[in-house]
Amino acid sequence: MQTDFQGKNALVTGAGSGIGKAIAQRLAASGAQVFVADLTQDSADAAVAEITGAGGRAVALAGDVSDPQAVEALVGTVMAAGGLQLLVNNAGIAGVQEPVGSYPVDQWRKVIDVNLNAVFYGLRHGIPAMLQSGGGAVVNVASILGSVGTAHASAYVAAKHAVVGLTKTAAVEYARQGIRVNAVGPAYIETPLLNVLDDAAKAALVALHPAGRLGTPEEVAGLVAFLLSDNAAFVTGSYHLVDGGYTAV
Ligand code: NAD
Repeated sequence: MQTDFQGKNALVTGAGSGIGKAIAQRLAASGAQVFVADLTQDSADAAVAEITGAGGRAVALAGDVSDPQAVEALVGTVMAAGGLQLLVNNAGIAGVQEPVGSYPVDQWRKVIDVNLNAVFYGLRHGIPAMLQSGGGAVVNVASILGSVGTAHASAYVAAKHAVVGLTKTAAVEYARQGIRVNAVGPAYIETPLLNVLDDAAKAALVALHPAGRLGTPEEVAGLVAFLLSDNAAFVTGSYHLVDGGYTAV
């Protein structure tokens, strides 16, 4: 697949680890200047060192995406570097594992803040910046849990379902203004996010994937790169699974 992001600036949130880092690496390998945003400067710096070490162009930024002013500042920094063409709202947390009847209210709020409200802030500030930059493409990282449920993760599942709806609405609003907005739905991917699960729980998860394994961050990054590229010029407002068959059974 030909993807060429030469001359484009990309902002990827939660890019210090896992899926976000793989996306940042993939976009940089295709010529984008990638703004690697993460909660701490150290994690963003470490990812940038890997990208620049491989010959890519990247800038490290720190910011908490659950804070709208921090997101506005991230977008402002990218704009000051010449414009924003590619945005990946990826940062996310798993949250505690509890049935809904005992789900701690403060944890509910935290998961909704990071996994849903932050995606809104990204669109709220990113879309006007993209319009000013002549158009662009957005991918919101949802999950298979944007279309199916699972026990003990009510806040996460609710947030990811909402991200799919938010994606569709933003896509409809900006389809004629040169901005495409899509969501991806990865199944379980080998990243530190799964550290909330013990080995037995992880092994049980493998059995739920017809592919017989968990996915890799690079496999998600390949789909995201396609959706951000001109190959996907007629693709907007949709939710794309990368799930080893998880939701097919
Ligand atoms: P990860 O824990 O490896 O990486 C998440 C990154 O987000 C971390 O670098 C973390 O510092 C950052 N982050 C967390 N809260 C933040 C905040 N408030 N502000 C800024 N950055 C913040 O996790 P991952 O598996 O790579 O997850 C990335 C995305 O993929 C998430 O949205 C997650 O819900 C989604 N996802 C993951 C899986 C999976 O199985 N790993 C499956 C489907 C979807």
